[in-house]
Amino acid sequence: MKTDRPELSESELKAEGETIRVMIKLYCRDHHNCSHPPCPECKELLGYAVERVARCPLGEERTTCGKCPIHCYKPSMRERIIEVMRYAGPRMFKEHPKLAARHVLQGLKKVVRS
Ligand SMILES: [Zn+2]
Repeated sequence: MKTDRPELSESELKAEGETIRVMIKLYCRDHHNCSHPPCPECKELLGYAVERVARCPLGEERTTCGKCPIHCYKPSMRERIIEVMRYAGPRMFKEHPKLAARHVLQGLKKVVRS
């Protein structure tokens, strides 16, 4: 019997990365007057966020990062990603309804910590 937490599957990880990428691009386009988002600053945030997801200790049981009890982001990055999600979340439904719906569903999962 396997007792380890299930790891994120390749496709989950890809969808997660895609969601973050779309959100950051949306935010960058509207806030940094960037014609080819993401700008270098946002690219840094994106790289950081994707890395955090890949290393998320909750694996498949993870919720969205904004609701996660672990807070693995360092504070400066956390503030930035929260701002991005707050802005891009509602707007994503218009442009990327499938990704947005997936993100909301994920956020409904409750994280039970032992
Ligand atoms: Zn930017």
